[in-house]
Parts: sequence; C-alpha cells; structure tokens
Amino acid sequence: MSSAYTESLNKLIEEFGKLPGIGPKTAERLAFYILKAQPAEAMGLADAIRNLKERVKRCKICYNLAEQDVCQICSDDRRDKSIICVVEQPKDVISLEKTGACKWVYHVLGGHIAPLEGIEPGDLTIEQLVERVRRGGVKELIMATNPNMAGDGTSLYISSLLRTSEVKITRLARGLPTGGTIEYASGKMLTDAIIGRQVLE
Ligand SMILES: [Zn+2]
Repeated sequence: MSSAYTESLNKLIEEFGKLPGIGPKTAERLAFYILKAQPAEAMGLADAIRNLKERVKRCKICYNLAEQDVCQICSDDRRDKSIICVVEQPKDVISLEKTGACKWVYHVLGGHIAPLEGIEPGDLTIEQLVERVRRGGVKELIMATNPNMAGDGTSLYISSLLRTSEVKITRLARGLPTGGTIEYASGKMLTDAIIGRQVLE
C-alpha cells in the first residue's frame, strides 16, 4: 500500500484485500473504481452491504437465511411441513429449490461435523432439528448433506439420534457424484436424486 494514497483510500484497499480471491492489485483497482464511480453507485454498494448485515438473519424454524423471523419457505402454507429436507448450507436450499421438485420445508445445519477442523455437533443446528422432530408432525427427514465423508457422517450421526423416533429417514439417491457437493450438482441430477431417495440405514 502506498503512503502516497490518502488514509481513506488505503483503508478501502485494505478492506477489499480481505475478500476471498482478491489480491493486492485487484483490491487497489476496485478501490480506484469506487473512487471514480458516481456517488449514487458507490453509496448503493455501501448500502447493500449495510442492509445485508442488518437485515439478513437466520429463520428461527429452519435456520435458512431470512429477513423476517420466519423465512419465506417456512411461512408458505402450500409447503408440506411433514417432510424436512436437511442440508448443510443455505446455498444447498437454493440449488434444490431450482429443481422445482421440492414441496417440503428445510433444516439448515450450518455445515457438517468435522472433529479435525474443530466442528462438533454442538456447533451445528442438530439439537434444534431433533427438537423439531420431537415436537411431532414430521413424517420424513430427507438427508441432503453433501455426498462425501463429512456429509455422510453427519447424516448418520443425526439418524442415530432419532433412531427411537417414528420419523422415516431417507437420503438422496447416489446419482450424485460421491465426494461432490449439492451446491454444484446439476438440476437434472438433483431431481433424479430426490425422486430416487432411499431409506438411510
Ligand atoms: Zn425457515
């Protein structure tokens, strides 16, 4: 960072440089772009960031992203609340919803269990999911964690917690590439996986 730049410019370069995939050169280029931009455009960006951080929160039922206490999917009366599709991330909800094959509601875990990375069950919304099932009215849990070791392990852990409950636990069919992620699966592949879901043993 050059001392020839003003304090504000240096600060913006520093902030851009913290973003994933942005090196020092790009950070500098972005900062200069903002400097030259029309005030309305630059302020629009600042407002979008502020609004995102102030308004977007977690749905208190499914932990998906929401701007109200309850997300749009959970508050949709046409959804079948007796089927909960369990995913790792909000991005997975978006991928599954794009297939148009989903009439159920979700539960977003917030990741997967990975003891080596220090991610324990208590760091995810697993307890909240078990509580949701125990409250009743849930017939099926569709485990749609990523088809890799961590995702499978997380699904098995959850199914072990619910072994004594009446709920049927299925998982997406294995048309999905093993070791892959839900986020990058094609719509057709996901639709097949949804239709061919199997009981999780
Ligand atoms: Zn919700």
